[in-house]
Amino acid sequence: MRSDALLPNGVQVLERGWLSSNNIVLTGGDEGPALVDSGYYLHSAQTVALVDQALQGQALRFLLNTHLHSDHCGGNAALQAAYPGLHTSIAPGQAAAVRNWCPQTLSYTPTGQHCPPFTYDSLLAPGQERRLGLQTWQIHAAPGHDTHAVLLFEPVHRVLISADALWENGFGVVFPELDGQDAFDSVAATLDLIDALQPAVVIPGHGKVFSDVPQALARARKRLDYFVQQPARHRNYAGKVLLKFRLLELQQVPSADLLDWACATPYLQALWQRFHADQPLQAYVLDLLEQLVQAGAAARQGALLVNQD
Ligand SMILES: [Zn+2]
Repeated sequence: MRSDALLPNGVQVLERGWLSSNNIVLTGGDEGPALVDSGYYLHSAQTVALVDQALQGQALRFLLNTHLHSDHCGGNAALQAAYPGLHTSIAPGQAAAVRNWCPQTLSYTPTGQHCPPFTYDSLLAPGQERRLGLQTWQIHAAPGHDTHAVLLFEPVHRVLISADALWENGFGVVFPELDGQDAFDSVAATLDLIDALQPAVVIPGHGKVFSDVPQALARARKRLDYFVQQPARHRNYAGKVLLKFRLLELQQVPSADLLDWACATPYLQALWQRFHADQPLQAYVLDLLEQLVQAGAAARQGALLVNQD
């Protein structure tokens, strides 16, 4: 599925789902085609096929990641294998963790997610610009959802690649908060930055391209305010997101297996230990699962839990 009606020449969005981030294909420039973000590893064969189709026989030359969550760079290894000589750029904050491949620092161990190891060639330093396809894109730091994330902004057509800092309806879990770091202020500052850039069109990390940016910013700020007022709501949301991601990955799973996975997943263990230790870990996880069922995000079929979109 593509949603390029609002976009300038040479910018194509491969709209994916929630397990895999959107992929942005940038073509037409002298330097060769570029891709921003590569989806989750489970979909990497599909990602390579979609990119191949979008490039119509050209080889992908550049790969960039807005941040290194598993759903944004899980296809990096497959793309690097498919396109020899592919030049990969990441934000500077986690360069050492990629060089030494540290799944703990890169969040894959804490979230119970997976990302095949990949390498990088250069850094996306905030304040610099990169020529990608037919446009020149500014690199901006975008901490909040992820401390090391960057945004890409093209000032002529005012197109923003926002990743998980701004969606049409909200923004991604504020992961540093789960590590006990105050990051809601960073989310607010990044929303202010987006406001100041005055984008006409936003390509989010998930969901369709949108142009009613003031409305999206208003919704995001309201949601942030709700979390700031009641941080327990954010932690509850984060717990559910981790479980839902696993369910998206497996599609259906014996409830007991999902419970075992959750009880062995460090972020869920930590949330339980810090805020819910008055009840057993299993009871805490079962309550989150029940909330997903009540919300229609999962359904019970006998001993199975089944993903519901
Ligand atoms: Zn993310």
